[in-house]
Amino acid sequence: MMQAAQTILRDVFGYTEFRGHQYAIIEHVVKGDDVLVLMPTGAGKSLCYQIPALVRPGTAIIISPLIALMQDQVDTLLQLGVKAAVLNSSLDNQAAFQVEQALLQGDLDLLYVAPERLMMPRFLQLLEQCKLALFAIDEAHCVSQWGHDFRPEYAQLFQLKTRFPHVPRIALTATADDATRRDMIEQLKLTEAKYFISSFDRPNIHYRIVQKSNPREQLHHFLQTEHQGDAGIIYCLSRKRVEEIADWMQKKGWDAIPYHAGLDKNTRQKNQQRFLREEGIIIVATVAFGMGIDKSNVRFVAHLDLPKNMEGYYQETGRCGRDGLPATAWLSYGISDVVTLRHILSQSEAPEHIKRIERRKLESLVGFCETSLCRRQVLLNYFGETYTAPCHNCDNCLRPVETWDGKIAAQMAMSCVYRTGQRFGVKYLIDVLLGKETSQIQRFQHEKVSTFGIGKTYTLQQWHSIYRQLVAANLLTVDMDNYGCLRLTEKSYPVLRGEQTIAFRRDPIVNKKKSEKMLSQNKNLPSHTDILWQALKNKRLELARSEGVPPYVIFHDKSLIDIHEKKPTTLNEFANIFGVGQRKLQRYADIFIQVINTCMQQLVPSTAVPSPLVGEGARRADEGCL
Ligand code: ADP
Ligand code: ZN
Repeated sequence: MMQAAQTILRDVFGYTEFRGHQYAIIEHVVKGDDVLVLMPTGAGKSLCYQIPALVRPGTAIIISPLIALMQDQVDTLLQLGVKAAVLNSSLDNQAAFQVEQALLQGDLDLLYVAPERLMMPRFLQLLEQCKLALFAIDEAHCVSQWGHDFRPEYAQLFQLKTRFPHVPRIALTATADDATRRDMIEQLKLTEAKYFISSFDRPNIHYRIVQKSNPREQLHHFLQTEHQGDAGIIYCLSRKRVEEIADWMQKKGWDAIPYHAGLDKNTRQKNQQRFLREEGIIIVATVAFGMGIDKSNVRFVAHLDLPKNMEGYYQETGRCGRDGLPATAWLSYGISDVVTLRHILSQSEAPEHIKRIERRKLESLVGFCETSLCRRQVLLNYFGETYTAPCHNCDNCLRPVETWDGKIAAQMAMSCVYRTGQRFGVKYLIDVLLGKETSQIQRFQHEKVSTFGIGKTYTLQQWHSIYRQLVAANLLTVDMDNYGCLRLTEKSYPVLRGEQTIAFRRDPIVNKKKSEKMLSQNKNLPSHTDILWQALKNKRLELARSEGVPPYVIFHDKSLIDIHEKKPTTLNEFANIFGVGQRKLQRYADIFIQVINTCMQQLVPSTAVPSPLVGEGARRADEGCL
């Protein structure tokens, strides 16, 4: 049986090896066991049920919560020559009838259905007349009220076990938190299932957090130096900010479009569709955007505002780099974010014990932003995984953070708050520390307090950093009901009395001209100015348009990069490209070989074109295209 699985992996999917737990999972499902799969996004969950679906006799029923996601998967499978279909509310009666007929006649290897359709008595009866290979419950965390995507229809799925006792079930999710996991096992009656838990690390994602100074310009600089022509998501906290940023990005010449729950349904759908179907679109969005976005080649996720907690951060950043290629999670963080989120929390009507949990979660995120340790280590530890740093792919690993003894500075900062009566904001306090005789300071006669002018050993920037870190550590608090003035907290006194030491992180000085990417290892994507790369991408887009599917359904970026690197000119060579199975070989090899040949001819000086391309000419052509 596993021989058959191996052959399908190669001939249908075009891959040479199973990844991680895939082999073991597939082996169990093929044998008929129930299985629970916990794997991060992009790790390859789909194959865990798609291959058993092809190995076992009968039709596999895949339960998925999102129409867009189902369609994407089916398009991908059809491209591979697999008999797959969807059954959901997007089909009219006639089309739905045809799919049902195909199912009854045993003409389908995989059928994707929405849970509400599956649990209809009529449909269950229909299934009882069919030979079923397995049930796959995708996004299985939707069954849990603990999770963020609870779907009441999922709660009925436990019935499958009693109704179809001989059909194996495989439940899959990328949700990392423990409460949801336990709930899922109970709700779906998976206590006897085999569990496969993978590391939730996403090694291809580079994590970076910058101190907010001029966020728009910082973002622009980041994109300009590292992600020109790439598709990405920019998250903002509010609808208004989404609109403003999208507008600003467009004026700066970026292909940016907004997405938030306040836009009408048509615009939302149109924008999402553009993001999925076109190349290099940037979507500026609130967290309303993302659930079920299966686009594999999102190259960056940028947060202009702080996410709500670590779970949110992991999930939102997790939307980039599904294809395993380098991607960047970029976040601009400033004290104002912490203040705003704390304020929102304090205003919330949730019961006090929930607020307390939320507050703690926010503090973990702030700690993550301020840490001088490996970010991946802190992130994975938060989710209960032991990870021993360094990862060499986060800002702190690539440019170790220096810390400095901040005891005296903290005392100055805090006593300035105290001496001025705990009634002023950061800007004013810094003016006092730096000894500026502004009219406001004169009005309050604060040039006479003992902290006036005592802070000249530090710059304005440094004082901002000091106050930010004090607030982040709850050594000072911001009173939002009082124009954001700073106040002492219980934790302030030991510091003021000199009983506690403090290490501040030294904020890195960003070199405007030099890209941060120079530091990272993520250098193996072709440049957006590369002629062959552009030609390959254009051809892919043209084919995708004519077939009405997203470009990555034709070829993943990883396959396209492999074509770009190996420049196959024969069918045999093309068959060795990553992700090229027999069907794709038949359909696309000639078309892409033609693109390569044309492009190479253009790049070689006409006097040096020997035909066929060998020796010096070929070498030069190679250089030209690299
Ligand atoms: P998930 O559902 O876990 O987010 P997918 O199933 O969409 O991930 O897989 C992510 C990508 O990895 C897809 O492009 C998929 O084809 C690819 N992939 C999965 N398994 C393998 C493998 N064994 N070898 C190479 N690529 C794989
Ligand atoms: Zn690291």
